[in-house]
Amino acid sequence: MTNEEIFDVIIVGGGAAGLTAGIYSSRARLSTLILNEGAIGGQMVLTEEVANYPGVETTKGYLLANTMKNQAKLFGCKIKSNLKIKSYDLEGEIKDVKLEDGREFSSRTVILSPGGRPRPLGIPGEEDFKGKGISYCATCDGDFFTGKEVIVVGGGNSALEEAVALTQYAEKVTIVHQFDHFQAFQHAIDQAKANPKIEFIMESELRSFNGDAGLQEVSIEHLPTGELFSKNIDGVFIFVGYIPNTGDLEGKVKLSERKEIVVDEAMQTSLPGVFAAGDCIVKRFRQVTTAVADGTIASLAAAEFLRS
Ligand SMILES: Cc1cc2nc3c(=O)[nH]c(=O)nc-3n(C[C@H](O)[C@H](O)[C@H](O)COP(=O)(O)OP(=O)(O)OC[C@H]3O[C@@H](n4cnc5c(N)ncnc54)[C@H](O)[C@@H]3O)c2cc1C
Repeated sequence: MTNEEIFDVIIVGGGAAGLTAGIYSSRARLSTLILNEGAIGGQMVLTEEVANYPGVETTKGYLLANTMKNQAKLFGCKIKSNLKIKSYDLEGEIKDVKLEDGREFSSRTVILSPGGRPRPLGIPGEEDFKGKGISYCATCDGDFFTGKEVIVVGGGNSALEEAVALTQYAEKVTIVHQFDHFQAFQHAIDQAKANPKIEFIMESELRSFNGDAGLQEVSIEHLPTGELFSKNIDGVFIFVGYIPNTGDLEGKVKLSERKEIVVDEAMQTSLPGVFAAGDCIVKRFRQVTTAVADGTIASLAAAEFLRS
């Protein structure tokens, strides 16, 4: 089945970045279509409580996502969800996006906002306790562990810096790391070691998450001896890397070594008329506010491109 309409803007991904781009583009009377692979809202939907989005004291992540979706629709943005993109043809003046189900959509500009996901540990119980004791974002969830005891998994800069940040809330933070040394800058290591609330379990890996309605305990293996032991815990923060959802864009637009989309200050990718926004681009801080800002810029730049 072929769609005859040529949109002004096709947005790939309906998270905070994509929905914001959708709001701006459709409000500028550009015919706009969002194609979203999963449930609309992206990572916002995974977030129990968003307490740092300006103008909204505190809200459920899914409610914020829903409001953004309704706002985009109000301006005439079309949204298609729960689909799978099969291929992209982004080089010509008219860009084509083909779906697995045979549908095909065309546009004059494309905004890529497929987001990303924290790299999981991939061990038993991780899926069950996500958001019920397991978190991948200290900025977002640290506050929920005030006065409690948490584990931080990882040994890079993020893990050590976030562990220090978590001591603002948690009574005790235990860093569990697989090696006998950290892969972080010395100042980050020094800061973590100097913090009286932080303890270390080195040369060890988590093997499973256990609990009932919420996380209660983790099983840890001491690698040199193979000894398994359990630790009661209120929360676990995992910082073992991040995966941008750009697998199907390799060879299409320029990606960094970490597979993030390379953009300029107008969110323009390596291809004319193709922009990118949100967690999928090269950047340091990944938050709803930064995704929203990127989506705004990408949409304004796409409008400028169409005018030119
Ligand atoms: C547990 C958790 C809690 C967090 N809490 C907070 C918080 O409290 N405050 C805060 O500011 N930030 C928080 N963050 C970070 C914030 O959610 C993200 O930075 C932001 O939502 C990213 O938005 P995005 O639109 O770039 O990407 P995403 O939210 O990842 O959205 C991308 C969308 O694109 C879809 N998609 C992926 N691939 C494709 C494809 N090939 N084709 C079509 N669609 C595709 C996805 O299904 C998804 O819907 C949290 C993150 C997590 C994981």
